[in-house]
Amino acid sequence: MPYPAHNAIPEKVDVLVIGAGAAGLMCAITAGQRGRSVLLIEHANKVGKKILMSGGGRCNFINIYAEAGNYLSQNPHFCKSALSRYTSQDFINLVEKHHIAFHEKKSGQLFCDNKAKDILDMLLNECKQSSVSLRTHCSIENIEALESGFKILSNLGELQCQSLVIATGGLSIPKMGASAFGYEVAKQFGLNLVPMQAALVPFTLGEILREQLSSLSGSSLPVSVSCNGASFNEDMLFTHRGLSGPEILQISSYWNPGSEVHINLLPQIDLFKELKVKQNKRPKAVLKTVLTEYMSKNTTQVFLDLWFSESGYPNQSLNQFTHQQFQEVADHFHHWVFKPSGTKGYRTAEVTLGGVSTDEISSKTMQAKKQPGLYFIGEVLDVTGQLGGFNFQWAWASAVAAGNYI
Ligand SMILES: Cc1cc2nc3c(=O)[nH]c(=O)nc-3n(C[C@H](O)[C@H](O)[C@H](O)COP(=O)(O)OP(=O)(O)OC[C@H]3O[C@@H](n4cnc5c(N)ncnc54)[C@H](O)[C@@H]3O)c2cc1C
Repeated sequence: MPYPAHNAIPEKVDVLVIGAGAAGLMCAITAGQRGRSVLLIEHANKVGKKILMSGGGRCNFINIYAEAGNYLSQNPHFCKSALSRYTSQDFINLVEKHHIAFHEKKSGQLFCDNKAKDILDMLLNECKQSSVSLRTHCSIENIEALESGFKILSNLGELQCQSLVIATGGLSIPKMGASAFGYEVAKQFGLNLVPMQAALVPFTLGEILREQLSSLSGSSLPVSVSCNGASFNEDMLFTHRGLSGPEILQISSYWNPGSEVHINLLPQIDLFKELKVKQNKRPKAVLKTVLTEYMSKNTTQVFLDLWFSESGYPNQSLNQFTHQQFQEVADHFHHWVFKPSGTKGYRTAEVTLGGVSTDEISSKTMQAKKQPGLYFIGEVLDVTGQLGGFNFQWAWASAVAAGNYI
């Protein structure tokens, strides 16, 4: 029999898990291993599509240094309990049991040596072993809470379940199956939502700035960026519509429309000091030539044009500068401030910020406080990880917390 199967759904199960992504698969496995009858349904044609596309096709499946500080949530303590009960080592044990080769890329980020499909195959194998029934092309049309459990109407028939797990993820990448379903279910049962926003997403720039930076499209440089109290040091990539790269994706999660972003384009040096030293050693050297020792010729030219096209500074020799003018130049390079016009939105965002309020959910079991038997796990909750394997880690940990309790 093919797996997932294409036949009708059972009339009764202990647990119905909606959404066969990272969290849904993991929760189904955990509950199945405890002997519960589990049906896992997916409305798309395939399961685990985001796992397949994650980490550039190699799936950054965990971060060995994950801690609560790597997550954004209105309640920063909420994730602690689940993360401490299912750790990165637990997931590594599973990966090793399936003989999947992996490596640490940097800063605790573990990636598959081969391909992300290894992780999906592993999860599907575990589902089979735990006798989880799995159906794709299945959409829910109605959910009714009974005195005990739920009555569900789907395009593949009607069923009753004792426990209902919502694992439908966030809004990012609609063409991969993302939907607002989880948020709608939360609203149906009177649970509050924290406003949603695309996160881990490139910035777009206003037309004038975009035009000014256009010749840099495709190039990148190591910078330090900060916004609303958060800061990161990684590479920034100039694109034809704006700014991207790990650094920008990270800071986008802390950005609100209208906020300023601060970028240090030369984080590795103190430009003011460097210019003073160079003024003594090479007084005749021209500013723009000196700056190309720290960044590419093109990048230097573009930023000098942006800030100093009127002043004549770019072609001025160092002995013509006062220290105050050096400070002015250094301040611009160390402290470039701009306002993104927006982000590229859910079409390209890796995750969704906000979601079902953690105030509504038990951090021990992931059960809704107002509705016994209803669980929310993974990205649909207001818990959003930074870039680096933290989002899958939350998906696994919250899924296991629910799966062990259902
Ligand atoms: C391009 C990209 C790369 C990423 N790379 C990484 C990475 O390397 N490391 C990392 O930690 N995180 C990464 N992420 C983030 C990570 O994929 C998500 O945070 C994680 O998948 C969330 O798990 P989830 O199970 O909650 O949601 P998902 O994995 O999104 O699963 C939700 C599932 O529910 C299904 N669904 C939605 N609505 C319905 C409905 N109405 N009925 C039935 N099914 C429904 C969806 O089709 C989907 O299969 C990446 C994300 C993207 C977009």
